[in-house]
Amino acid sequence: MTDLAFTRTEATRLPTEDRERILADPGFGTHFTDHMVSITWTEDAGWHDAEVLPYGPLQIDPASSVLHYGQEIFEGLKAYRRPDGSIVTFRPEGNAQRLNDSARRLALPELPQGLFVRAVQELVAIDADWVPTAADQSLYLRPFMIADEVFLGVRSARRARFLVIASPAGPYFTGGVKPVAIWLSEHWARAGHGGTGAAKCGGNYAASLLPQNEAAEHGCAQVLFTDAETDDTIDELGGMNLFLVRSDGTLVTPELNGNILAGITRKSLIELAQDRGHAVEERPVTVSEWREGVAQGTITEAFACGTAAVITPIGQLRTADGRDIDFGDRAPGSLTMSLREELTGIQFGIRPDRFGWLTEIVPALEGSPAR
Ligand SMILES: *Cc1c(COP(=O)(O)O)cnc(C)c1O
Repeated sequence: MTDLAFTRTEATRLPTEDRERILADPGFGTHFTDHMVSITWTEDAGWHDAEVLPYGPLQIDPASSVLHYGQEIFEGLKAYRRPDGSIVTFRPEGNAQRLNDSARRLALPELPQGLFVRAVQELVAIDADWVPTAADQSLYLRPFMIADEVFLGVRSARRARFLVIASPAGPYFTGGVKPVAIWLSEHWARAGHGGTGAAKCGGNYAASLLPQNEAAEHGCAQVLFTDAETDDTIDELGGMNLFLVRSDGTLVTPELNGNILAGITRKSLIELAQDRGHAVEERPVTVSEWREGVAQGTITEAFACGTAAVITPIGQLRTADGRDIDFGDRAPGSLTMSLREELTGIQFGIRPDRFGWLTEIVPALEGSPAR
């Protein structure tokens, strides 16, 4: 099934000058490339009809199950252009595996790992001109799966579709790497034991938007969610994992307790830090520990991480009762910035890929210009 043949339909490409105008200032998630990938699944035939199509609206029956019961999962990864012009992705097999973990939880079909990577490769190869050459820019890839059986009964769907779309991306937060303030959500949870917190599904994001609005009203960029039962044990942000740094250089991050998403950036930073000789503790972490640690000087840095924003230093945790935790002008911390520098360096092919994390999907063209 991994060697399913893809049919390719050439799209009417956006004129070069329009593409160049978009790439000069891509923003995040607003512009899309010329093509998309679609693969269909039915209970009887399995995965079939692998297609590279012109990017455009989907025809969805109003009774499609995804529109009613939310059977949807997604992934996020990036394609980077190296100085020699070649294009790579970062640990795509990790995304393929996680998509299948999410699929099992949402009762959607699993996709063979090789087919996931092929789909990404097909799209990036045909839309290679959309992979930015500017520093700090990349092509954000959004694979996702929806249940599209036409049926209103409540059971897992017998028909699904896997799609990949791509969007050129500048920095996620504009204005350079600046420490952000985050808001402690005390009324709302994003996950509970036995729920879907460990799956990358749209439903989790739907539940995080009201608290996200509350955060924005308090001048915060992101929300920190705690465990629904203790209201003190930290889970993660709406779409990013969290790390604290101790004064002795130890990294502390919430363990994968079934409520939080197993971030590939999280995993990579753990491996990178351990390789540099830092201790990394994966265990329950509380807001109280964070507050006391900052007061005593034993916790010196905090950051959030995920594919979209890589590493974002946290300057402040704001709370409804005003007992804010504040790093003041000590943020961003030096370990935060040095990990960020090395990870982005590896991704863009500027630092050696010591761990074999990159998969080349488009080779260097002869005589192609350096970035
Ligand atoms: C995608 C995601 C992350 C980050 O995962 P990466 O693989 O590092 O991009 C963290 N938390 C949530 C809820 C997510 O959806």
